[in-house]
Amino acid sequence: MKTTIVKAFGTEAANAPLHSMNIKRRELLPHDVEMEIFYCGICHSDLHQIKNEFGGATFPMVPGHEIVGKVSKVGGNVRTFKVGDLAAIGCIIDSCGKCEYCNDDLEQFCDQGVTFSFNSPDKHLGGATYGGFSESYIADEKYVLHVPQTLDLGSAAPLLCAGITVYSPLKHWHAGPGKMVGILGIGGLGHVAIKIAKAMGAHVVVFTTSPSKVEDAKRLGADEAVLSTDAEQLKKYARKMHFIIDTVSAKHDVNTYLNLLRHDGSVVLVGLPPEALEVKAFSIVTGRHSFSGSNIGGIAETQEMLDFCDGHHITADVEIIQIQQVNKAFERLQRGDVHYRFVVDMHSLSN
Ligand code: NAP
Ligand code: ZN
Ligand code: ZN
Repeated sequence: MKTTIVKAFGTEAANAPLHSMNIKRRELLPHDVEMEIFYCGICHSDLHQIKNEFGGATFPMVPGHEIVGKVSKVGGNVRTFKVGDLAAIGCIIDSCGKCEYCNDDLEQFCDQGVTFSFNSPDKHLGGATYGGFSESYIADEKYVLHVPQTLDLGSAAPLLCAGITVYSPLKHWHAGPGKMVGILGIGGLGHVAIKIAKAMGAHVVVFTTSPSKVEDAKRLGADEAVLSTDAEQLKKYARKMHFIIDTVSAKHDVNTYLNLLRHDGSVVLVGLPPEALEVKAFSIVTGRHSFSGSNIGGIAETQEMLDFCDGHHITADVEIIQIQQVNKAFERLQRGDVHYRFVVDMHSLSN
């Protein structure tokens, strides 16, 4: 297959710094859309992966899966995009399209294994897929999203992963009027979760380990914010929460939060701590609680989320950086020093 060389930023090995590199993109197939990348967000999953914290990572690796830009070329059979349209790519760029999950718009659970936008087996070129820290991306139009014109592109980029990852469980567990919804951890995912849960009409309670975020959570729209390291403050919420979205990226005690649930409530894990988490029997049998999880969302739901965020004027709070600052940004993300998402201006690749 013919390929084109494009500029990118990636890493050769776990824990090695990212640097400028050239990568190959496939030639345009009849159903493919080529997108010029304007912005790409930095998710904690990018950080887990460049450190190979889940094992099995493929190097060289070009991370980035919160990708927005403009369509620069379309294949002969493309019907849903034209050159110049705003477009976005999130975590998913392919799936079997035939299994029960794909048929139900749940491509993230595809029987054949979903293809992620980076560090996933590349069906066309072999090796691994390369992500959004690059000039351009090529994907089948079925996996490309339409970005509403009114959303600010740089601050909309994080919706492609952070947004859908919290929208999907908030909807599934019925966030809305009369529901006490907890958000645990206020980083990229958590701060967008506050905004979306509030827009859905829920009463939003934030649990954070960072004293500085207690006040800021209210600015972001939370009704209440609690310093989770203070057991006294937590007591007030015992048996009050309908469900809690847990976005914490590192090992933590989930039993503390299971004990805040009403009967039939759930702690929904979306964070991906590499270490196993311990669930105590009495944290779940008492009150018929559950400890559950959720993984991004399907393509149709991602489009629905973008349209929902457009309707409610929701974007992320971002710090726009140049690609040359990406290693510093990863260090700051590791320390929790980000309010609340780094987004790379991808035109800086040509600096
Ligand atoms: P992030 O911006 O780094 O935010 C994580 C937040 O977790 C931090 O801001 C901090 O919030 C809290 N935290 C971190 N370490 C902690 C610790 N040791 N104990 C307690 N709290 C701690 O990360 P993100 O981009 O939002 O991603 C969050 C997690 O979700 C990552 O593991 C990421 O890989 C995962 N993820 C999963 C999916 C999925 O589909 N399931 C999709 C995207 C991301 P406070 O300062 O408020 O305590
Ligand atoms: Zn992500
Ligand atoms: Zn499938």
